[in-house]
Amino acid sequence: MSIKTDYEFDYKHIWHPYSSIKEPFPCYQVINAQGCKLKLKNGKILIDGMSSWLAAIHGYNNTRLNYAIKKQIKKMSHIMFGGITHPSAISLCRKLIEITPLSLECIFLSDSGSVSVEISMKMALQYWLGRKENRQKFLALKGGYHGDTFAAMSVCDPNNSMHSLWQGYLNKHYFASAPKCNFYSDWDEKDFNSFAYLIEMHHKSLAAVILEPIVQGAGGMRIYNPRYLQLVREYCTHYGVLLIIDEIATGFGRTGKLFAFEHAKIEPDILCLGKALTGGTMSLAATITTRKIANTISNSSANCFMHGPTFMGNPIACAVAVENLNILQNNKWINQVFNIENQLRKYLLPLNQLKQVADIRILGAIGVIETHNLLNVVAIQKFFVEQGVWIRPFGKLIYLAPPYIIKKHELEKLIGAVILAIEKPVHYLQ
Ligand SMILES: *Cc1c(COP(=O)(O)O)cnc(C)c1O
Repeated sequence: MSIKTDYEFDYKHIWHPYSSIKEPFPCYQVINAQGCKLKLKNGKILIDGMSSWLAAIHGYNNTRLNYAIKKQIKKMSHIMFGGITHPSAISLCRKLIEITPLSLECIFLSDSGSVSVEISMKMALQYWLGRKENRQKFLALKGGYHGDTFAAMSVCDPNNSMHSLWQGYLNKHYFASAPKCNFYSDWDEKDFNSFAYLIEMHHKSLAAVILEPIVQGAGGMRIYNPRYLQLVREYCTHYGVLLIIDEIATGFGRTGKLFAFEHAKIEPDILCLGKALTGGTMSLAATITTRKIANTISNSSANCFMHGPTFMGNPIACAVAVENLNILQNNKWINQVFNIENQLRKYLLPLNQLKQVADIRILGAIGVIETHNLLNVVAIQKFFVEQGVWIRPFGKLIYLAPPYIIKKHELEKLIGAVILAIEKPVHYLQ
């Protein structure tokens, strides 16, 4: 066997997200990351426009987050959560309860966003078991994304490949049309018809509604009208259906509010948090619910909540999440996100006039350019790297979601690269 270079080894043996082992897309080797800069093996520096999928909100190699990890490692890196508790988990849960709505007071910690979604769905199902009602269906939105595990996949957009590939494997749920009215446009009552119809028809079999608040992320980067979310809350309350809000992508300031549901001034019954929870350093997620739901879960025949991951409440992850929340607590993020939004508006909105552009959507530290034609992801990503930026488009979407600490000239560089990229015909599939 010949000795392979790292690149060849990776290419031949390692799966990346949604990749093929047979003909993988090229991968770039990053050897370190600092602030908003990623350093490639060949020495090239890239400005980061992704925050590693909306997680690294304070930038990379953050001194305070690093220190929190080091301090915790010296005490213990992990301890089982069954029958044992520890200060970092307690501090984190105290803080999470403090910053989320008053009614949310019972927390389940888990390892990743998808798992926290599984847990939220299981909570809803066990709640109805506790009430001796047979309710096994969920109502979700088209264009939604909730993760890659099986229950999470079953509430993702039904028209993407997850459902076509997994037909027969996934439980069948209900899907309302994706909200069309965008954040800043006038509200049109018709936008809610599909949801209203489905919940009226099926509420007796619905355990919960599950959706992403205000921003639909990986399912299409749509930014919708808060009125839609208000109506969802009203209808859920009216029909006695639980509301699960998946804040995994939007939580911790990304949309200009600490949580995106605040744009609609509503509260969920069950809340999922992940991604930025540890400032992009460790995998950790949380599912938070009300005392009433938690108590009812314990009335089910199991008389406990049926879940318990091995690495539940990992102390390093909890400690760094606490420090992430400490950093957010000084409220610098509000101005940072506000400035990013203004800069995105100023430079991206005019692109609406380009013939290649179908739509521009901006909210908080998220800027989305939707093109008319499918993007050639390999070609455009290569171009971005040549330009010294890290932006990873998908489908017809180029989006920017930089770390909150990004400097004005760094964001300018990201935006400049996007503008150049849009105009090149080779960046589209025919
Ligand atoms: C990323 C994401 C998930 C899944 O989280 P993982 O940590 O990747 O499992 C679920 N819901 C939303 C809205 C997400 O953006």
